[in-house]
Amino acid sequence: MENQLLGPQEIRELAAVLGIRPTKTLGQNFVIDPNTIRRIIAAARIDPDETVLEVGPGLGSLTLGILDAAHDMVAVEIDPPLAEQLPLTVAKFRPGAEERIDVVLNDAMKVMELPKIPTALVANLPYNVAVPVLIHLLGQFPSIEHALVMVQDEVADRLAAQPGSKIYGVPSVKANWFCEVSKAGVIGTNVFWPAPKIKSGLVAFKRRPELLSDVSRQLVFDIIDAAFAQRRKTLRAALGPWAGSSARAGEVLDAAGIDSSLRGEKLDIFGFIKIAEAYRDHFMEQA
Ligand code: SAM
Repeated sequence: MENQLLGPQEIRELAAVLGIRPTKTLGQNFVIDPNTIRRIIAAARIDPDETVLEVGPGLGSLTLGILDAAHDMVAVEIDPPLAEQLPLTVAKFRPGAEERIDVVLNDAMKVMELPKIPTALVANLPYNVAVPVLIHLLGQFPSIEHALVMVQDEVADRLAAQPGSKIYGVPSVKANWFCEVSKAGVIGTNVFWPAPKIKSGLVAFKRRPELLSDVSRQLVFDIIDAAFAQRRKTLRAALGPWAGSSARAGEVLDAAGIDSSLRGEKLDIFGFIKIAEAYRDHFMEQA
């Protein structure tokens, strides 16, 4: 028989025991539908010997599914009552599995080390901070080879967007520095408690086997931020504040072989890397 996953009744009972009400500030929408958990786990393609990082385990809906699929896991939760309860919930619904999970009380946007080395990230991310959490974790933990996250559907589309589309922007290019990104499904609103107003989307990430360049990631990300801060302007104009002037931005773009009359939204990650490399090679002060 299949292991039990948490449904509406279990979630409500757990919330009552803890005396908690989900808060918007922490993006607390708990999954109450076992089928949704099965879908996420299937899409996550977890190998049994993996160590999975979950962000925001909440009341444990996804955690139980991950523990059934993976050998080991670590969960980072910012809300103290939820972090304290999680091992008890695991012990109740998966006796013995509490040995295989470490719960870390911390802000996933700031966490710098973990008690285990994660190879995968699987999470129903807190919606208000989903992109910064994702970018921080991919940068901080290069051992994460793949990820499957649930975010607001429009954020999912933005993460997986291609150059030239209206929704292509900072999240799409930065995620592409680390990974190949693809949309992995849409999830309706009634599988959550409380039900959010908008649909959610699943996004899959596959880490690139090698870094795309040895140029500094911070430099590339600064250029991306500048290009999209004024996305309707040409690269020459938009990169002016970053380079010191539009004229200098034009020189950097010429050196990179990039048409300075393009807008940033036309450029893929490789284009941004060319700009950063040209800047490093021809314009940065030598120490
Ligand atoms: N995984 C659970 C589920 O699917 O039912 C809960 C998901 S809920 C959308 C987001 C969770 O992230 C909540 O448990 C919330 O307390 C937690 N959270 C919010 N901000 C966080 C942060 N900065 N770092 C870690 N956890 C956070």
